[in-house]
Amino acid sequence: MSSVAREWREIPGRYNLKGTKCECCGTIYFPARPFCPKCRRASIGKIVDYDICRTGTVFSYSIIHEAPDCNNMLKPYAVAMVKTDDGVMIEAQLVDVDLEKIEIGMPVRAVLRKLDADGAAGVIHYGYKFVPL
Ligand code: ZN
Repeated sequence: MSSVAREWREIPGRYNLKGTKCECCGTIYFPARPFCPKCRRASIGKIVDYDICRTGTVFSYSIIHEAPDCNNMLKPYAVAMVKTDDGVMIEAQLVDVDLEKIEIGMPVRAVLRKLDADGAAGVIHYGYKFVPL
């Protein structure tokens, strides 16, 4: 278990939240986009890789009690909209936290977790989750 976690952590790039930034207007996109819909043609060639800040705060959250039929072993879990310190909104599962203690504004950081560690219901989008700081 821990060796798997370590292995994942050592893969460069995987551990970072890779987004892109439009150098025309400064908008950060996550997930990465090859094109800026605001700048359109002007953004061609101006999109650069951007590592999203891994720390942020809980902007909103919901506790999911109902799991899809195919996954009815799943316990209630929390999905949060996290605003990273560089202002990017990321939706991800909140883990390693007492569900009753989650609150808006709570500082969190992104960690990479094995996708199937908590069941693969399709709710876990990118392989990272947030834990309390
Ligand atoms: Zn732009």
